[in-house]
Amino acid sequence: MNNKYKILVVEDEENINNLITTLLDANGYQALSAKSCADARIMNSSYKPDLVILDLGLPDADGGIFLKEVRKGSRVPIIVLSARSDEKDKVEALDSGANDYVTKPFGAAELVARVRSALRTSIYTGDNAGYSGERFETGDLSIDYDSRHVFIEKNEINLTQTEYNIIAFLSKHPGKVLTYAAIIKEIWGYSDLGSIKKLQVNMANIRKKFGAIPGEKNYIINELGVGYRMNNDE
Ligand code: CA
Repeated sequence: MNNKYKILVVEDEENINNLITTLLDANGYQALSAKSCADARIMNSSYKPDLVILDLGLPDADGGIFLKEVRKGSRVPIIVLSARSDEKDKVEALDSGANDYVTKPFGAAELVARVRSALRTSIYTGDNAGYSGERFETGDLSIDYDSRHVFIEKNEINLTQTEYNIIAFLSKHPGKVLTYAAIIKEIWGYSDLGSIKKLQVNMANIRKKFGAIPGEKNYIINELGVGYRMNNDE
């Protein structure tokens, strides 16, 4: 027995599967490997992994089907791996409950960072986590949910109600990519043709107020064509 995080890698391409499992082992995780949807079901129910890395293009079924099955009964973080650069697939996977996605080909450091971030997210949102739910902190950013105040380096940032609601929503899913549609639904409750534009305008204002500098650490990352994520990589 050990206390390493167990990560299930579902990928039918032998060399990519080997690459990822080797990479995870080298980074202190226990990697489990599955090469089809059928394998993945068995491995998932026998080993109860702490995180799943899931290729969407599997030989026996679409990885998206497995994703939906898992989500019916579990909040295990799922990172989708996709060769498809089509944004629709990513958006669909995220809206079906994936925490994140990585597009192939990917860098080793990038994948490991996403794994770390997704595991951290599940700790934050876990049922008995040491996360009170009253306050969020990452780097110099902190949010007090009771008073609805946001601070950077202890300076209060003056946000509108809508801007605050957006930030609070993103912070409740740190590290997870939230699609435009998911954010719009949460904030405005409906979606119309102008919604994405409205979201982008609010986001631009938030970033200005946060003093975001291009190329430097940003608290909010725009995943182009897909959505936004709260950066929780320390
Ligand atoms: Ca594949």
